[in-house]
Amino acid sequence: MDRVIVCVKPVPDPQAWDRLRLDPVTKTLIREGIPSVINPLDRHALEAALEIKDAHAAEVVILAMAPAAAQPVLREALSLGADRAVLLSDRAFAGSDTLATSRILAAAIRRLQPFDLICCGNFTLDGSTAQVPSQIAEILGIPNIMHVSQMTLEGDKRLLVTQKIEQGYVRLEAEPPLLLSFTKEANKPRLGSFLEILAAEKRELALWTNADLNLEEALIGLKGSPTQMADLLVRQKKRQGLRLEGSPAEMAQQLADKIHRLGLI
Ligand SMILES: Cc1cc2nc3c(=O)[nH]c(=O)nc-3n(C[C@H](O)[C@H](O)[C@H](O)COP(=O)(O)OP(=O)(O)OC[C@H]3O[C@@H](n4cnc5c(N)ncnc54)[C@H](O)[C@@H]3O)c2cc1C
Repeated sequence: MDRVIVCVKPVPDPQAWDRLRLDPVTKTLIREGIPSVINPLDRHALEAALEIKDAHAAEVVILAMAPAAAQPVLREALSLGADRAVLLSDRAFAGSDTLATSRILAAAIRRLQPFDLICCGNFTLDGSTAQVPSQIAEILGIPNIMHVSQMTLEGDKRLLVTQKIEQGYVRLEAEPPLLLSFTKEANKPRLGSFLEILAAEKRELALWTNADLNLEEALIGLKGSPTQMADLLVRQKKRQGLRLEGSPAEMAQQLADKIHRLGLI
């Protein structure tokens, strides 16, 4: 194996989810001001690629489509051992649904040819459609194995892949070029050292816009997205919290009074 591409999606940090808001017009997430982290399953995709690198000296390339503010996420991937990172960022990409996103990622992957393997997460924390990996594979005309729970490389090219299915597991043999999407069972992602994190701060990131991919504007962004958000229903809160104060006996009395007043017993 010579080159493994890892698709890493920067997703809103779950610690900041209480600050997430939706655009009332496009009904999409407003991501500005919300820090991003590596999508958790993409850490497993990266670990699989790094294990191939450790054993076979393959080059590991990180690919992400995200706003420029997501650069720290790519740097973190570099600190873990990736060789280089490409950030795809352009106003023309904004509003892309999963199909337009897949077209953009696939065009970038074509530019990174030749490659042996593309590693993805099985799904993301935010969109969570699990559509992007199969669509990329379809556009590139290569096979795709989803739900990968184990992967080993035999020799330089033969992959033994375990795929999780509803009733159990399937063992498959495959050869590159191939796209795999990983579950959390696949491996234990490594942690970066402090020195590697510092060193990654100075590493160069490649920033590609649509001028580098040359995709027709009708195929990307909102214009190139057949999926449109029709409406959004926010679940109404029906529960009401009540804070009781005082000694345990006083709080028990308040609770009993409340239950009686509401006629619940
Ligand atoms: C009408 C519409 C407008 C939208 N507008 C925006 C917008 O303006 N900005 C925005 O951020 N999102 C927008 N989205 C959401 C966007 O389409 C999805 O975030 C994106 O297509 C990925 O889908 P997903 O999260 O379900 O990925 P999944 O298919 O669940 O992802 C599986 C794997 O694919 C790879 N992957 C997925 N996305 C990326 C990526 N971007 N970069 C690298 N690897 C990736 C990762 O390995 C990931 O683990 C919009 C969606 C719709 C329907």
